[in-house]
Amino acid sequence: MRYISTRGGVRPLSFEDAVMMGLADDGGLLLPESIPTLSPEEIGDLTSLPYPELAFRIISLFATDIPPDILKELIDRSYGTFNHPEITPTVKKSTFYILELFHGPTLAFKDLALQFLGNLFEYLVEKRRSRMNILGATSGDTGSAAIYGLRGKRNINIFILHPQGKVSPIQKLQMTTVTDPNVFNLAVRGTFDDGQRIVKEIFGDLDFKSRHALASINSINWARLVAQIVYYFYAWGKVCRDTSAPEVTFSVPTGNFGDVFAGWLAKRMGLPIAKLVIATNENNILARFVRNGDYSLGKVVETLSPSMDIQVASNFERYLFYIYDRDPGRVCKALETFRNTGAISFSEPELKTISEDFVSDSVTGDETIATIRDFYRQTGYLLDPHTAVGVRAGLRNTGPEQPLVCLATAHPAKFSAAVRLAVGFDPRRPPSLQGIEKREERCHIIEADPETVKEFLARHAL
Ligand SMILES: *Cc1c(COP(=O)(O)O)cnc(C)c1O
Repeated sequence: MRYISTRGGVRPLSFEDAVMMGLADDGGLLLPESIPTLSPEEIGDLTSLPYPELAFRIISLFATDIPPDILKELIDRSYGTFNHPEITPTVKKSTFYILELFHGPTLAFKDLALQFLGNLFEYLVEKRRSRMNILGATSGDTGSAAIYGLRGKRNINIFILHPQGKVSPIQKLQMTTVTDPNVFNLAVRGTFDDGQRIVKEIFGDLDFKSRHALASINSINWARLVAQIVYYFYAWGKVCRDTSAPEVTFSVPTGNFGDVFAGWLAKRMGLPIAKLVIATNENNILARFVRNGDYSLGKVVETLSPSMDIQVASNFERYLFYIYDRDPGRVCKALETFRNTGAISFSEPELKTISEDFVSDSVTGDETIATIRDFYRQTGYLLDPHTAVGVRAGLRNTGPEQPLVCLATAHPAKFSAAVRLAVGFDPRRPPSLQGIEKREERCHIIEADPETVKEFLARHAL
């Protein structure tokens, strides 16, 4: 399987090269030349497998240049860190299913991709006898999942910037209590935007970037998406066996369009998915896009589901490539229009194509709180605020006869302030968070200045 760029400016790459490249050299995003498809029989067989075996079979279709025994070992190690035997169990509550994606080391769904990517990076760096210094900025979930994915890896250092005092106490502790020598937490005296700007500026210094073998861990790496396709197959198998329904609808709390795009890939591979619900909070550019073709930039507002406080969804360009019949010229033109005017509009036939796969809905903060409260009263189950957005949007957009699976993207204890608002008490902490305040911390406080961060990197990079 070879990989091409949405902007058409990269010669076809192997899976390994696509993973190492991350963002395509022409500024676009990498995609497989063709999406493999599976027959209903093959899907039936695959979806009865245990999670790691299923992951191996799905990822093998894309990672064709990694020797099977090595790939198997990387996958087994990646999901061996999860604290549930099913990795991503599905539980039935009320009239629908919850796909729990929070049994990894940092209690959020990003572990599914980043545990795998960390092991894959380590393998590739070793194979190429090279080194890697990962640099990223986080507002919360990505940073801790990346740190847990890369801690202790050979020949890789990881540097994560977070805005000092502006991430939740639990999220900060999940990062700073990882004291492996290859992990560097930088608390920036500034905002999340400052951190992002600094990282962008440093990556823009191509000389510095290549001198220090800088790499990024953001959500556009193809390997992250591949790992996320797996749980759609897994959950589909569980629910279809339970209901004998031919199709399932998934509701996906969405920010960067990564998770829900993985669902779309699963559908394209042949998995019988009726609809994918793109569930957004008040940052609703994607909901407006699906509902009336209005992809226009709004201002980012802070909500109770901070991991979805995004306007420009970085993975969206991948979907654009398919809306535009895989024509890189049209992708480039649309992106240019977006840069110049802050909007892209879509034609009636394009909207029709979009609505065959997606519905979308935006959920307010009040609705999020009400959903957590009502659901707890009905079922005794606590939803985190991101999951609650997905549940509300899923229920509002699915008929009673249609099996619905809502993706639970975080454990409620990670977002206890919102849960407390809804039900009046804090969720019980799972073992990995118990006593976290008492653990040793390692963190460097640093000015919000690219030169200062560069100096730090130069001193500590491999
Ligand atoms: C990152 C994240 C999301 C959004 O996922 P995308 O792939 O960016 O759409 C939703 N919920 C939680 C808890 C997250 O951490």
